Amino acid sequence: MSDLLKYSIELVAVLLLALGIKGLSKVRSARGANQVAAIAMALAVLGLLISYAGEPSFNAQAWTWIIGGTAVGGVLGAVMAQRVPMTSMPETVALFNGCGGMSSLLVALAAALYPAALDATGPVALVSIVVSVFVGSITFTGSIVAMAKLQGWLSTPPWMQSKLRHVFNIALAVAALVGAVEMIRNADSGTGLWLLIVSSSLLGIGVTLPIGGADMPVVISLLNSYSGVAAAAAGFVVGSQLLIVAGAMVGAAGLILTQVMCNGMNRSLVSVLFGGALGAGSVAGGGGGEYTNITSCSVEECALTLEAAERVVIVPGYGLAVAQAQHTLREVTRVLESAGIDVAYAIHPVAGRMPGHMNVLLAEADVPYEQLKEMDQINPEFPAADVVLVLGANDVVNPQAKSDPDSPLYGMPVLDVQEARTVFVVKRGMSAGYSGIKNDLFELVNTSMLFGDAKKVLGDLLVELKDLGLGKK
Ligand code: NDP
Repeated sequence: MSDLLKYSIELVAVLLLALGIKGLSKVRSARGANQVAAIAMALAVLGLLISYAGEPSFNAQAWTWIIGGTAVGGVLGAVMAQRVPMTSMPETVALFNGCGGMSSLLVALAAALYPAALDATGPVALVSIVVSVFVGSITFTGSIVAMAKLQGWLSTPPWMQSKLRHVFNIALAVAALVGAVEMIRNADSGTGLWLLIVSSSLLGIGVTLPIGGADMPVVISLLNSYSGVAAAAAGFVVGSQLLIVAGAMVGAAGLILTQVMCNGMNRSLVSVLFGGALGAGSVAGGGGGEYTNITSCSVEECALTLEAAERVVIVPGYGLAVAQAQHTLREVTRVLESAGIDVAYAIHPVAGRMPGHMNVLLAEADVPYEQLKEMDQINPEFPAADVVLVLGANDVVNPQAKSDPDSPLYGMPVLDVQEARTVFVVKRGMSAGYSGIKNDLFELVNTSMLFGDAKKVLGDLLVELKDLGLGKK
């Protein structure tokens, strides 16, 4: 009976999990989908507890550990989720991935040390333990390094930027392989197990430490996928079909997201992992090349042009997030809408520094979902736009990506803002975006630069628009 109940609950949990993942693909359904997936996880735990409840080893002490652990972890997770600002989300995701990797590692470690007690004997269990220890260790240390780098607690030591790091990482990979073979050859020997744990933990550090800060979201997405693989392997270790399914789903979803991000940046995963054309150094705002023929304008001129427009497209970018100008932007667009001006937001898949960055940012400011248009949807609409307001975006609106085969951005899909009648670019100066290259858009005749911090410029624009009588209705 308890088996039937367990399998029924687990089946419902798997279906809800799949539904949750599907719902996450749309901004409108994402919030609800997250809750559905959380219910699925709660059901999964319930199913597991029901199946074990009757066993003699499940005494009062075991329940105390389970309930105590759930309470401590639950409270910590809830407090963190409440407090973390949206701009720190990549670090938080990295930390959670690390926790996932560590859990799988601990499960596999327990199974390796006490195989009989956990019923983890035989070749399948042994290989699963090896995979879980290897991937779990890499995920754990790699995620912690990723989090520390994003927080600015860690920087890459110079020798890690040289070719020497490849020698270091290959040596660690060989040591991990030796440990794995030793474990499979002689399951009782602790030497193989500890060699595998130490070498793969160091490998996690060795592969993540050299990666530039701005590439980190891609790596975090990849580590997310690894945490799924580690969980699926742990599922084989403890014989839990649910853990296998959930881990495989996370593994596949993380891999797809990694691919989507790489495509959006026109980079290969290999170039992200081993250092490619685009460095993270440009984030500091260097480079950018020489500009001639730059037209700049005042906030008043921009307000007058907006007043006469019928259709305005807003292009948010990384700078908008840095300036935290989303709420001021929303006030500006409310004023425009109240004057009967049609407003849409063009969302590039890799605008900002994490997947969905702009969606989250604009959702925070209560921008209606239906006004957010994805790149493929908005690109044909630019010729009909009177004004495009580019706010702290750079690479995602660089026409070089389509016109210059020698450009490092060549091939990256971009927003065709130059097709609009007038383009205003709001940024603090002429420094480059993440790619570190010049942006031809800034020199076009229909482009005017509006220099300043995005929040300050939007605040001034709001005052000007109101002075012009907009937003009085
Ligand atoms: P970019 O990084 O290309 O450009 C941002 C611009 O914002 C800069 O040129 C900067 O210019 C300006 N800026 C910075 N601070 C402010 C401020 N306070 N007010 C106004 N402007 C400001 O951003 P995009 O969003 O266009 O492109 C994202 C880039 O990040 C792409 O190259 C993408 O590949 C990469 N990336 C994206 C990831 C993702 O998942 N979304 C992951 C990893 C990388 P100035 O200093 O002159 O003000």
